[in-house]
Amino acid sequence: MGRIEYLHKLLKHRELSARELAKQYLDAIDRDNTALNAYVNVTREEALESAQKADEAFRKGEGVGLLTGIPMALKDNISTRGTETTCCSKILRGYKPLYDATAWSRLKAQGAVLLGKTNMDEFAMGSSCETSCFGPAHNPFDISRSTGGSSGGSAGAVAGNLAVYSLGSDTGGSVRQPAAFCGLVGLKPTYGAVSRSGLVAFASSLDQIGPMAQTVEDVAIVFDAIAGADPLDSTSSKTYVPQTFKNLNNDIKGKTIGIVPQLFSEVSSEVAQAVESALKTFEGMGINLVSIDIPEIHYALPAYHILACAEASSNLARYDGVRFGHRTGEGFASVNEMMIKTRSEGFSQEVKRRILMGTYVLSKGYCDAYYKKAQLLREGLSTAFEKAFEKCDAILAPTAPTTAFRTGTQLSPVEAYKADICTAPVNIAGVPAVSLCCGYSHHELPVGMQLIGRRFGEEAIMNLAYKFQQNTDFVRTADWGVRL
Ligand code: GLN
Repeated sequence: MGRIEYLHKLLKHRELSARELAKQYLDAIDRDNTALNAYVNVTREEALESAQKADEAFRKGEGVGLLTGIPMALKDNISTRGTETTCCSKILRGYKPLYDATAWSRLKAQGAVLLGKTNMDEFAMGSSCETSCFGPAHNPFDISRSTGGSSGGSAGAVAGNLAVYSLGSDTGGSVRQPAAFCGLVGLKPTYGAVSRSGLVAFASSLDQIGPMAQTVEDVAIVFDAIAGADPLDSTSSKTYVPQTFKNLNNDIKGKTIGIVPQLFSEVSSEVAQAVESALKTFEGMGINLVSIDIPEIHYALPAYHILACAEASSNLARYDGVRFGHRTGEGFASVNEMMIKTRSEGFSQEVKRRILMGTYVLSKGYCDAYYKKAQLLREGLSTAFEKAFEKCDAILAPTAPTTAFRTGTQLSPVEAYKADICTAPVNIAGVPAVSLCCGYSHHELPVGMQLIGRRFGEEAIMNLAYKFQQNTDFVRTADWGVRL
């Protein structure tokens, strides 16, 4: 049984009140967040208020669902009405959205208890959570190491037992890679499965909100709750109603898992070994394995960086000191000068680099050579994945090339971008993938693997992930926070 069901039973039988539960988490956050830096804003009052409402619902036995009264956290790029949403950027300090993101309003409608907003790389650009204006989040398994990123705080909060589950966002790997570094389950849904309304845009054609938790059951419950059509996001599917939770226990015997050698090429031997032994476990569970070549994957990372930067340069043009957040405190002689000063002060180096790169690849004369070529590669890769799924039901691959690296590791931008080598192809193809723990390194750090599925095939990959978790013993909790 996952944690959500376990806590739901306690709440339902009134062995524990939602208020007591929320208080336990809030006290643990008071105690442990200084070390973990998972939260950048704790919403104590609101949490206690919604816990109280949840208790009333349980008392009356009305409007109660599995998520009622369960304490959770949101990445700080998911809009919360009236509560600061900063994307961990100086430029958005003080910005309070006027509306809730759809994913959040759906959870709220079910009585979710929001504990706070979590740390992230600035505007979700990064893989270490170190570009946050609030300083890096620290990995609960070893606080000298990175939580991964960009949804590092969302992963750190759950792995550090400071939230039962959390939402992150995944544009090129930002849910899966931190989930892998922190020993969690993290789902990047099919593009269009979850509404992006209220998710602060990084690269709109790639961004998806996804859940993280300790178990596949918990992730399934949350995913089912946030997925589905939304008139506020025209790219959300009009018809998709996933029932991943209900289908977790389906028989998987005779299913086929594909292995794509290109996705193993750059990973450390420890990671490769753990994923290979997971393949053996699956074989033992009656799964067939096939090797599938997708040579296009070689170009996925450059294509990702061209497309993501191009879209970011346009999306981030709105932070000009006029409508949102920060405006320069220095004097200015013209509107132009105000904007230049505001943006120079408000964005950090990584965000500026991406805006410059995006502007360059879209500029006249270079657009055909970079942006259009990357679009063609995206089409090629999507087709290649579709073809691969004619031969298998899911693809198994490492999530990240390494386990959690040390915070402060000085990497060049290109070295840092390599952290996304296994995850970015999935976003480019728009398909879903779930990352889960498949072993531990000699430093006792979690190793993550991902199951990649066909478009809107979350049920199939979650089914496989669930069976794997049932047959293995890799769910471990770090020594922080609330011990259930
Ligand atoms: N690490 C990737 C990047 O730096 C992915 C980020 C994300 O998925 N938001 O762009």
